[in-house]
Amino acid sequence: MYAFLLAVVFHPSKEIAKQLVFQPHIHLPKEFSAGQTLVFKKDVDLKFISINQKKMSLIGKNHLLGVVPLYGGNTVKILGQWEIQKLSWLEKQFSHPSVDYFVEYRNVKKHPLKQASNLRIPASVWKKVNDDHADLKEQQKQKMKKLLSQVPSQDFQLDCYKAPINSVVVSKFASPRTLPNGYSYYHSGLDQRARVPSSIKSIGPGKVVFAEHMIVPGNTLVIDHGGGVYSRFMHLSDFRVEPGSKIQTGQVVATTGATGRVEAPHLHWEVVWKGNHANPSQFLQALEPICDQG
Ligand SMILES: [Zn+2]
Repeated sequence: MYAFLLAVVFHPSKEIAKQLVFQPHIHLPKEFSAGQTLVFKKDVDLKFISINQKKMSLIGKNHLLGVVPLYGGNTVKILGQWEIQKLSWLEKQFSHPSVDYFVEYRNVKKHPLKQASNLRIPASVWKKVNDDHADLKEQQKQKMKKLLSQVPSQDFQLDCYKAPINSVVVSKFASPRTLPNGYSYYHSGLDQRARVPSSIKSIGPGKVVFAEHMIVPGNTLVIDHGGGVYSRFMHLSDFRVEPGSKIQTGQVVATTGATGRVEAPHLHWEVVWKGNHANPSQFLQALEPICDQG
């Protein structure tokens, strides 16, 4: 009897099953670009995948989404954990759940900061946003950072996300730039030309969580799309929705302007996942193939 039990529990088919299960159904490219949105199909045994320790969010029924950070180091750590399925009732009685991991490191492609180009901020604008206002600017920055990296209150609202405005891109995501005071940084969103006032449409369904004036970003609107994903619009002239409002894809939420630190009127918009800034246009592309599977 014992021999029979042992034979069942340690049957070689379990090893075979383990090997079969631990074939990650994801494909990692050789390197990532900064702000790249990753979408993986989730197989049943997958417990989680993390990007630099931030767990990817479930989107729809069987996909995971996460964003490679723009700031921080030039490498990113991808960790995946699978739980090995047990084969029989007997195995469930005699053995603990078995897990397998994979850990992969990838380079993150971005322009060197020393290639930054100078922003031409008009003197009258710079006076309103310069370092004389350092304390208040820092306070507002920290408050926003906290808002954009809080624990998701709901699942990601999958839909066919769309750009907020149809116009020419005047400054790309992740382009390095330098302020009049010599400080260099990466552009954390996308700038699109916009006559004032042009209507801005929500990129997806969600809830308004912030609509206020800030020194550097000017009038700022933030929409929570669930799963740790937020969209943020800056330099607005006017808000068309209030904090707490539920929003549909394509709904007009604000109008473009030239408030805050700007060279000229335009729309600056961002997508942020768990505090990581995504390349906005690539975010839309990454969702496209699965957007109707909600
Ligand atoms: Zn911008």
